[in-house]
Parts: sequence; C-alpha cells; structure tokens
Amino acid sequence: MGLSDNALQALTEVLGEEYISTDPAVMRAYSKNFSSIGIRPPACVALPGKMEDIQEIYRLANRFDFKVIPTGTHLFMSCEPLIPFYDYLTIDPKRMDGVRIDEENMYAVVEPYVTFGRLQVEAMKRGLTCYIPTGGAQISVVANLTFQGYHMHAHRLGAGARAMLAMEWVLRDGEIMNIGSTSYPGGEYFWGEGPGADLRGMIKGLWGLCGSLGMCTKAGIKLFPWPGPDKLPTRGDTPDKRVFLPEDKFKIYAIGFPTLDSVVDAMYEIGRSEIASVCLHLQKGWLASEISLSQEHYFSTWESEAYQKSVENMLVVMLTAYTSKKQLEYEDEVLRAIMDEYGGKLLSDEVQEGVAQVVVPDLTIRPNIVYRGFRIAGTFADIKGVCDSLDHSALCHKTTVPLLKRFMKDKTPPFVDDDGASHYICSYDFGHMGFVEMPFIFEPDADYKNVKVGVRLTVMGLFHDVWHRTHTAFLLNIAADIIGPFMGGFHKIIRKVKTAFDPNYVSNPGWPVVIWSRFLKDGIKSAMNSYREKRRNMKEELENDA
Ligand SMILES: Cc1cc2nc3c(=O)[nH]c(=O)nc-3n(C[C@H](O)[C@H](O)[C@H](O)COP(=O)(O)OP(=O)(O)OC[C@H]3O[C@@H](n4cnc5c(N)ncnc54)[C@H](O)[C@@H]3O)c2cc1C
Repeated sequence: MGLSDNALQALTEVLGEEYISTDPAVMRAYSKNFSSIGIRPPACVALPGKMEDIQEIYRLANRFDFKVIPTGTHLFMSCEPLIPFYDYLTIDPKRMDGVRIDEENMYAVVEPYVTFGRLQVEAMKRGLTCYIPTGGAQISVVANLTFQGYHMHAHRLGAGARAMLAMEWVLRDGEIMNIGSTSYPGGEYFWGEGPGADLRGMIKGLWGLCGSLGMCTKAGIKLFPWPGPDKLPTRGDTPDKRVFLPEDKFKIYAIGFPTLDSVVDAMYEIGRSEIASVCLHLQKGWLASEISLSQEHYFSTWESEAYQKSVENMLVVMLTAYTSKKQLEYEDEVLRAIMDEYGGKLLSDEVQEGVAQVVVPDLTIRPNIVYRGFRIAGTFADIKGVCDSLDHSALCHKTTVPLLKRFMKDKTPPFVDDDGASHYICSYDFGHMGFVEMPFIFEPDADYKNVKVGVRLTVMGLFHDVWHRTHTAFLLNIAADIIGPFMGGFHKIIRKVKTAFDPNYVSNPGWPVVIWSRFLKDGIKSAMNSYREKRRNMKEELENDA
C-alpha cells in the first residue's frame, strides 16, 4: 500500500524532494541486514538534516498513521520490522554526522551518523581514545551506545553503555527528551545522570530498546586517555595490514595456561591487581581467522594439530603506559608473577607476533573483526552471549560446547564443526564482569534453509540456558518472552517502558518486544485494510470492464 499521497507530500514539504525516496530500487537496498534476509522493504526513506526534521517526521507519522524506524548504518536486523505488515519509513541519518570533541573534559558530542572509526581518528589526534564495539569501527556511535556496547577494551574502559553521557532524543510524538546535563537551559553534554532518576537506565540495560522509544539525535560520549601516536603505525595492505604500536607505551602478551580454569583465575588476579588495559581469553579459531589471508588459508591453519596446540587456553593481555614507562615495567612484573602462580607461559614468537600486530589492534583499537568472521564460511550467528561474571562465562562456554558438537554432527558443511573455536571471554572493569560470546559459523544459502537451521540452534540455546541456569543476555522479542520468566520478569518491565512512551506503536514496533494487544489490533486493522483495498480494486475492474 505504501504511505498515502498526503503523507508523502507533507514529508516532501518538510525535507525537500531530494531527501525523500520511494523508489523501489532504493527501498530494496534498505531492506537487507547482515543476515541477508530482507523482511519487508520500507515504504519510504527519509534523510533528515537536523533534529527538527526528525520531530516533523514523527509528528507526520502520528497524523498519517505510518511507522518510523530510526537507523544508524543498518547493520542489525532490528532496522527492519519484526512484524512485516506495517508500512514504515526508514530514517537514514547520513546528513547528520557532526562531531565535536571537548579535549579538556575528555568527551565528544556526536550526531547519529558519526562512526567509531571517525571518532577514534579525531580522538587520537588529541591524545584520547573511545571504546569501539567488536562489531566494527564502521558503525554509528549513537546506535551502538543506545543498543549494545560490547567491546574488547572493556577490562580498562568498562562497558560501552557507561561511556554514555547526556543525550537529546526525539520521542515518538515529536517531543524532545533531554537526559543529563543537557536538560538544563544551555546545558552541555558532559554528564549523563539526572535530574532525578537516571533515565539512561531506561534507554539501555544489557540491550537497548532498538529505536522503539524514538530517535537519539545527539549524544555525549566519554573518551579515555590514549598514550599512543596520533596515527597508527601500520605496514602492509588489507588483509595483511599490521599495526606496530610503540613498545615503550604498549606491551602485548599471548599467554598459554594449563586449563581454562587457570586462565579465568589469572584473569581475576590481573583485575584484582588493577593492571592491564585488555584481558581476553580467545578460543582456538581467533588467531587463524585474524591472520589468514583466505578461507583456504584459515582451514589449513586451523585444522593443523601444531596450530591447535600453539593457541590452547590462550590469554591475551595488553599493558598500556598511561602514565610512564615505569608503570609499564611495574605491570610487567606483576603480570609475570601472576603467570608463575597459575602456570602461564608465553606462547611461541609466531603467535606473539600475530597477536600483537593483528589480533589486539583489530579487536580493540581499529575493530573490523566481524568481517574476518564472515570470510570463514559466509556468515555467523551467536548461540549465546552472556554478561555476568568470568566464572559464569567459563561455565557457559563449557556447557555449550557439547551441545554445539551434537548439533553440528550431521550438518558439516554448511555448518563448521569447530568445538566453539570462535568463542571468547572478555574481562570488563578489571574482572568485575565477564562477557562470553559464542558465535557459530556457517554458509548461508539463497533459500535461507541454513539460516533457519541456525535459528533452531539459537532457540535450543535458550532452553539449554534454562536447563543449566546459564542465562543469556542476547534476548529480544520472542527470546525475551521465553527467558523473561526465568530472569525476574524483565520482559514485562520492557513492555511497560515501551507502552508508556509509545502507546500507539509508532517507533520500530515489535522491537525489542512485541506488545501483543497492539499487535493484534494492528493486525486486524491491516487485514481489514487489505480486504477493503482488494474489494475496491475488484469494483474498479468490474466498472472498467462494463
Ligand atoms: C555481525 C555483527 C556483529 C556485531 N558485533 C557487535 C559487537 O561486538 N558489539 C556490539 O556492541 N554490537 C555488535 N553488534 C550489534 C549491532 O549491530 C551493533 O551494536 C551496532 O549498533 C550496529 O550499528 P549500526 O550503526 O549499524 O546500527 P543499526 O543496525 O543501524 O541500528 C541498531 C538498532 O539501533 C536503533 N537505532 C539506530 N540509530 C538510532 C538512534 N539514533 N536512536 C535510537 N535508536 C537507533 C535501530 O533502530 C536498530 O534497532 C553486531 C552485529 C552484527 C550484525
């Protein structure tokens, strides 16, 4: 059906013809996410130039009864409707890409299209850095801050969402909501809390609300000290581009431990000693996926017994001289004492080199790792991702590997039976929190058959979690309804927030949870509309024939 002529005319008046499109080819281009499943293309794409344009888009959505989905760079599935019968408008914020850095107070103010890559480049020029999600430096800072924020520099920099400072939001009715220090007249973006309750907790828990509260149009983000050079010293070309960090500022170690338990014990001790900036357990596939130049190269490396042994129970640690070389020397001594205590040994020179020049920069400073992940078999999905303690992370990994093994038994290829070789456990906040992510790798196909099998595995993962009490963090829509009752009924709280802010289901309906009453109401309305349209068309045809 699409948006009505009146709605399109009103939108054109607000944005100008140039920044509104309903061209089917353009719509198709906006209907694909990383999973390569296009659910339903938008009816219209809008490119607003300023916050006021977004206010008008939401006001018109209420007036002309269409849905709105705000996006960043459109990597994730929640940029498309979960419920495919809605006519919706996609907001592409390409024109809103302003970035400003307050060097002295160590924060940046970004508009929705600023990417982590761009922010990092600007920050490094000023001796600062930002967290960058492992998903990649090419994604929108605002989208990630308000959505996930999982990254591998978190041992020192903490969870991504805690870098969130003041924010400006356009709510689903076009009203503005300011959070933190911008809520005062003339307020700046340096502080995220208050006045009163900290509304950031409503924007994001382990996940955000997927654009279903409205659109964040400006955000303050905390920056951290960067003692390295303003430009990363690199050699070579992609896919073999290597980074050479100055050795008087950074020390990177690949350490092998006797068991996974001793890795985790060492991680706790490194945290307790408050040393290191990166502290990360990587399963056996990681080094191979990072340094391989092709798919064939990956499999030949990974399948070799010598390689498998060379990266067993590997802990990757980076020490950073935030203050002086002396600090680096002190941390080196403490780390070596911890290695002695838990049986850690430095791995071979070849492994050290790959970890220092490729793995650590690629995961924590200029992330583009997921695309190396795609190269192995075409795509990947997560059976689980869990945010809790480091011990809990190890338990999740250990209990999930047998499930994966059983599942993959008769499915290889297109699924890669790799004993969880792409799993990792990351220390957050000096070991106060552990994050484990468990990707599985497979080849997608044009009929989505393999994707469907992959979805089956993730659903099995949910029940597996309930059985082992290893509850997961990757919970959206139906998954939240399945696991919510086992996790304090959090799905009910999300529903309450969504219905309080968006009772008419205007902004990204269906994400992060479905409001069933609304869904049924809209569903009946939509069915009636298409019935009426069909009848109208038939009547017109009969009249024409007559
Ligand atoms: C392969 C893969 C790997 C990933 N790895 C990671 C990872 O390591 N760490 C991590 O944190 N995340 C990861 N993600 C999840 C997610 O895609 C990213 O967190 C990130 O948000 C995507 O950025 P984007 O700019 O593409 O956002 P989009 O995909 O465009 O948007 C993501 C969600 O945020 C909403 N949104 C976007 N902009 C706004 C806005 N201005 N205001 C309100 N809502 C908005 C959208 O409606 C959508 O629901 C990964 C995703 C994929 C597909």
